Amino acid sequence: MKSCQVSIVVPCYNEDQAVKAFHRALVDALEPTRQEFEVCYVDDGSDDLTRSQLIYLASVDERVRYTAFSRNFGKEAAMLAGLRMSRGDSVVLMDADLQHPPELVPRMLELRRHGYDQVIARRDRDGEGALRSFLSRSYYRAMGHFMEVSVVDGEGDFRLLSRRAVDSVLTLPESNRFSKGIFSWIGFDTVSFTYPNAQRVAGRSKWGSRRLLNYGIDGVLSFNNRPLRLAIYAGLLLALAAMAYALWTIVGVLRNGVGVPGYTTLLTAVVALGGIQLATLGIVGEYVGRIYCETKNRPHYLVRESSDHPGSPAPEPPIRATGGGASATGSGRSHTVRQFLTFAAIGVVNTAVYLAVYATLNTWIPYLAAHVIGYCVSIIGSFFLNSRITLRTRPTWRAFLRYPLSSLVNLVLSGALLYVGVSHLGMGKNVAALAAGILATPFSFLVARWAITSGADATREPEPGPLADSRTGRTGD
Ligand code: UDP
Ligand code: MG
Repeated sequence: MKSCQVSIVVPCYNEDQAVKAFHRALVDALEPTRQEFEVCYVDDGSDDLTRSQLIYLASVDERVRYTAFSRNFGKEAAMLAGLRMSRGDSVVLMDADLQHPPELVPRMLELRRHGYDQVIARRDRDGEGALRSFLSRSYYRAMGHFMEVSVVDGEGDFRLLSRRAVDSVLTLPESNRFSKGIFSWIGFDTVSFTYPNAQRVAGRSKWGSRRLLNYGIDGVLSFNNRPLRLAIYAGLLLALAAMAYALWTIVGVLRNGVGVPGYTTLLTAVVALGGIQLATLGIVGEYVGRIYCETKNRPHYLVRESSDHPGSPAPEPPIRATGGGASATGSGRSHTVRQFLTFAAIGVVNTAVYLAVYATLNTWIPYLAAHVIGYCVSIIGSFFLNSRITLRTRPTWRAFLRYPLSSLVNLVLSGALLYVGVSHLGMGKNVAALAAGILATPFSFLVARWAITSGADATREPEPGPLADSRTGRTGD
């Protein structure tokens, strides 16, 4: 195996608009250093022309090597594949969108010559939205207390690793990888410097708010068991509080005799305890889920082809699914039927939600107010469930505002059908109401689908695969 001085590892997912510009900038930055280098691109199952572009780059520049995955496995898996491919004495991890400026690489190599095993380029937060900046900063501050390794705000994956640091990273076998924690965990002599935040040169970020939130949770759970401890402390604290309350009640009974038991206090205590138990169960479940994933011992990714083992020529990118919700592949009709059945099931769930909210609230507030709140909660819930589960689309404000139309259509149509059934067809009132409800559902489904997906191509999310939760690895946040 031929070794070289420097390997640059670049994970790419749908970067066909950026990768050529990136390669040019990288070569321009590295050639003056007179170091022997290779660039290891990893195509993370892109559905645009990224793979064809990598094949092209490898054919015109012998310093380029690539690996292409069979599907999108996430940035963590792509970085791991790149590190495994790399043969350099030093390895630099970089994004393909030029947010990690290639002109900083010579400076990193210089610091490596001073003996550092990790050189971290840390970005500042200039030009970032105030809310995002605030949330990220708060997250890292909280992480400082929570995690057993130190993860610093702005220090992402843009870093140089010495060969022994890379080998150490590769000895860690976990399938649920959180690189920022792993880099910190391996230790060695580390130095960092700050550079101004840059915007993406083309394309768009793959990190929506849900993915970021999951990544944040991964970070918390990957490197410590403090959430479990917190659950134990919360349980103990509550038990103590309950004992104190029992004592206080007993003293009250001894002094004043038995009073009327407080319904509200009881309900509040039951609900609060239920919530804490559920949250604790969720935390335990997360850890158990992780153990389950680890024991399956699946590979982190599957390779479709690599520059060492070229495969079939890259196909044209598939036509993207349209806003109507029908898939470009497979039968559009069965797709619609599946969507409709999911929509109907969510309708049942939402009716239950409405009833639960209504029944809980009407003991405290006027029943009509309880009805309105229950109705609003069920519409909001139905909107999010149908966006995420039925139509697999990111919810938008525009869709949210249009969505109540579907309930309106349902109300008007079922009312009209009920009228026809009872007054003209002589049906029983209950049977007519049931039939009207069933007949109106397909129409409200169509309106709901239009409300959620019309003009939503840009926000459409990929269908989650079995390893979707391993798609982690935002650059610096
Ligand atoms: N990336 C990847 N797989 C993914 C998501 C992203 O390989 O599932 C790559 C992406 O092509 C880019 C880098 O990871 O080179 C950082 O992604 P992005 O720019 O979307 O993240 P951000 O800069 O917004 O944090
Ligand atoms: Mg980026």
